[in-house]
Amino acid sequence: MSLKDTLITRITASGPLSLATYMAEALLHPAHGYYTTRDPLGAQGDFITAPEISQMFGELLGLSLAQSWLDQGAPAPFALAELGPGRGTLMADILRATRSVPGFHASAQITLVEASPTLRAAQIATLDGHNITHVDSTAQLPDAPLWLVANEFFDALPVRQFVRAGDAWRERCVGVQGDALTFGLGPEGPQPDLTHRLDDTKDNDLIEVSSAAQNAVREVGGRIAVYGGSALIIDYGDWRSLGDTLQAVRQHAKTDPLESPGNADLTTHVDFEALAGAAAPAAHSRLTPQGVFLERLGITKRAQVLAQGLTGDALETHIAAHRRLTHPDEMGNLFKVLGLFPTTASPPPGLSE
Ligand code: SAH
Repeated sequence: MSLKDTLITRITASGPLSLATYMAEALLHPAHGYYTTRDPLGAQGDFITAPEISQMFGELLGLSLAQSWLDQGAPAPFALAELGPGRGTLMADILRATRSVPGFHASAQITLVEASPTLRAAQIATLDGHNITHVDSTAQLPDAPLWLVANEFFDALPVRQFVRAGDAWRERCVGVQGDALTFGLGPEGPQPDLTHRLDDTKDNDLIEVSSAAQNAVREVGGRIAVYGGSALIIDYGDWRSLGDTLQAVRQHAKTDPLESPGNADLTTHVDFEALAGAAAPAAHSRLTPQGVFLERLGITKRAQVLAQGLTGDALETHIAAHRRLTHPDEMGNLFKVLGLFPTTASPPPGLSE
């Protein structure tokens, strides 16, 4: 039975699902989930991410993390962690760029938080020669100083959606009509956790809340506040979420999110204010556009050095990749970077308080 039919049977028997439950099933169902069953990245897959566009992305992130580690006294051992590492490309670029930082590799316990068995296998292959540990969630990160990166991880976590109705809210749910999945609205009810959103919303406005994202970042912020370290969180989104940002992508094209659960990537824009709040008592940087962050770290200089060894198509691709990562009309503005660090330390290079 397809996942869609399984969900229709379940909803018919026991009622509509929250969007978060639907997303969790569609993305991570053990037999049919989108991430559990495939490698979705790259030109042949459904979407492409910054580390897959150019090695420069991971190199500069790696150098920012390593400088932050040096600035905090180079504690050893420490956890070098990534959330949702995809094919392992970003971590491989981080490790290559930091090879000559004295003590960094010798002190690093590489820890990858990954739910997908398919992508775990890809990461092990990419990171061949490095000692890595896979864990299921941020709660299992080592109790140690933590330098962490997460690119396009938080956008993949389930959200609930609420539509304002006076001083109450109605939850947007997934139900069944005929043989199709459809959106509907649950009954009006108070949502004490959303009281602060009564100030900046009006009737019928929709907001998104991800308790999975908040729980994940709470574990990260707690460790950074206690043991030291820093985190670079990169994703598309804004300081505060407003409106329906659920998007389904299949083979590089948008599709209906309810059409074929398990076969399309589902994402939402990240609410960085909620992440920053959950990271306390760790401090957070200003939310910084990806293009600005990469320029501050010297991407143009790095691009020029790499260009010297390239000609023809390879050079064209390289120039296009630089533009794609940084230009405001491409990923430069849409993607944002949030840094986490101890209140006693400075933000990692590329970010400001
Ligand atoms: N960071 C990579 C991949 C982004 S795709 C890159 O930039 O290329 C999202 C990644 O998060 C995938 O590796 C996916 O399997 C993983 N993921 C999604 N939900 C997860 C969850 N709840 N727990 C752990 N990993 C998850």
